[in-house]
Amino acid sequence: MSITRRNFLRNAAGGTAAAAACATLASMPAEARESNKVPDKAIGLLYDSTLCIGCKACMSGCKEANELPLEDTIGEKLWDTPLELSGKTYTVIKVYQHGTMENKDKAENGFAHIKRQCLHCVDPSCVSACPVSAMLKRPEDGVVTYNKDACIGCRYCVAACPFGVPQFQYDTPTPQIAKCQLCKHRLAEGKIPACAQQCPTGATLFGTYPALSAEIERRKALKPGEAALYPRRTVDSGDNHEKPAPEYVEHVYGQKDAGGTQVRYLAGVPFDKLALPVGLPDRSYAADSETLQHTLYGGLILPGVALAGLVAAAWKGSKDHHDDDDFDMFDHPEGGKTHG
Ligand code: SF4
Ligand code: SF4
Ligand code: SF4
Repeated sequence: MSITRRNFLRNAAGGTAAAAACATLASMPAEARESNKVPDKAIGLLYDSTLCIGCKACMSGCKEANELPLEDTIGEKLWDTPLELSGKTYTVIKVYQHGTMENKDKAENGFAHIKRQCLHCVDPSCVSACPVSAMLKRPEDGVVTYNKDACIGCRYCVAACPFGVPQFQYDTPTPQIAKCQLCKHRLAEGKIPACAQQCPTGATLFGTYPALSAEIERRKALKPGEAALYPRRTVDSGDNHEKPAPEYVEHVYGQKDAGGTQVRYLAGVPFDKLALPVGLPDRSYAADSETLQHTLYGGLILPGVALAGLVAAAWKGSKDHHDDDDFDMFDHPEGGKTHG
């Protein structure tokens, strides 16, 4: 008698007493885990694409502050030229281009910049997926940190991030996960993140979450074309420059996307053109996946189904044992057998 996967699952779902118990458990209502909330002392960044001039001072500031090597993608060995986030690059400025590219921050015949980095999600999937808590969200300020000493290199965080942020360092003998940690070492010294420090226009702005929320509201309320002041480095630096208010798209990226993020974006071009995923749910993926896990494991449904399968298999195996001594737990792809 041979027990294949199909037999195993059929037995598990069949009329055994254990499977019946599982079905009862399955009908129990799942206790849904809500998306986590923004921490009380949350900090973050506001990136305003309409202020960005594409100078990439943020990128070189990030490299220097985090002691990251240069990345040569054009073979000149002169410049740091990353095209995307990588094991050597925590932030990158990309550009949208269309048609004649004469209109800044317009989709039609226009161009616009976008800054890629970790968004420091309010309820991060990378933290939820990490089996050893190498990825952690600091409860006080919400910075999402990475502990290389705890990391086992499973790359679950890479797969789980909806924004494609964490990068595995494939080209080193001691690979780590590379991602922005909001310059936590600079924060510990009372400094602001290097990218906000270096940005000459205030396109990358550091502040508390509420202060950045107020700044977003202020900018959204401006009449396009009217003169407006824009702070550099921090919301309350007092170092302002004046420029006509742009026409923003309605969407404030990161306000609600995938449960919200502590790095938020304003832009004049729809975000689907700016290399950011759109149409994400307001509820975090971490809340969904943990609700499912708790339903399956907390309600003992998955272990129960497995147990039912084992019980059924054992019962059937013992019944058939007298007729046939050949007992295989699983089929092997190459047609081999495992004897129990
Ligand atoms: S953007 Fe990705 S890596 Fe950053 S906190 Fe969110 S899930 Fe984690
Ligand atoms: S906060 Fe620091 S690590 Fe993150 S992108 Fe800015 S400079 Fe780089
Ligand atoms: S430093 Fe500021 S203006 Fe320059 S590319 Fe970075 S975000 Fe844009």
